[in-house]
Amino acid sequence: MFDALIGFIREQYRTNDFIPLHAPVFQGNEKKYVLETVDSTFVSSVGAFVDRFENDMAAYTGSPRAVATVNGTAALHVSLLLAGVKPGDLVLTQPLTFVATCNAIAYCGAEPVFIDVDRHTLGLSPTALEAWLEESAYLDPEGVCRTKAGGQVLRACLPMHTFGHPVELDELVRVCARWNLALVEDAAESLGSLYKGRHTGTFGCVGTLSFNGNKIITTGGGGMILAGEALGVRAKHITTTAKKAHPYEYVHDEVGYNYRLPNLNAALGCAQLESLEAFIASKRALAASYEAFFQGRSAQFVLEPEGCRSNYWLNAIICEDLEQRDALLLASNASGVMTRPIWRLMTHLPTFADSLRGDLSNALWLEERVVNLPSSVLPEPSI
Ligand SMILES: *Cc1c(COP(=O)(O)O)cnc(C)c1O
Repeated sequence: MFDALIGFIREQYRTNDFIPLHAPVFQGNEKKYVLETVDSTFVSSVGAFVDRFENDMAAYTGSPRAVATVNGTAALHVSLLLAGVKPGDLVLTQPLTFVATCNAIAYCGAEPVFIDVDRHTLGLSPTALEAWLEESAYLDPEGVCRTKAGGQVLRACLPMHTFGHPVELDELVRVCARWNLALVEDAAESLGSLYKGRHTGTFGCVGTLSFNGNKIITTGGGGMILAGEALGVRAKHITTTAKKAHPYEYVHDEVGYNYRLPNLNAALGCAQLESLEAFIASKRALAASYEAFFQGRSAQFVLEPEGCRSNYWLNAIICEDLEQRDALLLASNASGVMTRPIWRLMTHLPTFADSLRGDLSNALWLEERVVNLPSSVLPEPSI
């Protein structure tokens, strides 16, 4: 299968050169807009492209507010603060994610509780979440969710839409409401993905996006907070050093952060956003080709969950076992076609080794089997 797969991927990208997992594509107004910022001298934290990028993203996702940040991790940090996460709190999340999800929890002085994922979404399982809460948590007389063991506050729930595939949001929204948990979505990988027709990142009290170089659109580095009106205003304030509007004086009314996105980066973002739907169409076509390739083979292609439109940011397969996974990684990377295993579980990193957790059978099973395949937007057909 490996030789056939490598040949198939080379056919898609029509090259004998190295094929990366994900490369950005700049085919629209990127140069034009970036040059405009240079010509205007407004390259830094104030500028028209920041406002435009925020407005365009709010319009695209249907979020009342969108606040640009310096990267996706900063967006997550501030989103958790907005959700009320305080030092000593616990935040329920999945062990199968990029480390930024859990680092942001740690920045708040809080700790993660790891809950298993579903095999069909690769994201947080509402069933596992509810089972853990039934067994290990209670609502105190004020309605605050606490652990039975130590009375620690369970403040928020932070699911992540793995590789662009939406988690089961209806169920997660229901479980979070029942247990008084603030729902914060890490939608870093799922810009443009829809759950029952609505954009991921807009289901909780706050959601976050990332525009790192490897994401579906990039600003070089950047992120976004999606929120309602009130939290959106708060987000803008604390990501811009908590400065009160004043014609010339420096008045800051709380500890703020310098997390704003420079105008230079926002210019790139505005141009990339114009191409987003075309990128998604290309990636969905590639995913359909991969799906056809894996029909009847031993490795299983990961499909978008029912009722969803995934952006198929990174295509993934589930290998039969660890042996097949390792053989595939070795063969493909040796022949210049980049593939990567899914992340090590957070519970296997020294930082989070002692964290609370539920049963993690699915996450452990997937950790040994999932491989990402090259997923860049395909080159335009040459005529
Ligand atoms: C990319 C990513 C982030 C944020 O990353 P930044 O590089 O800080 O923009 C957060 N969570 C997940 C799951 C990601 O993939």
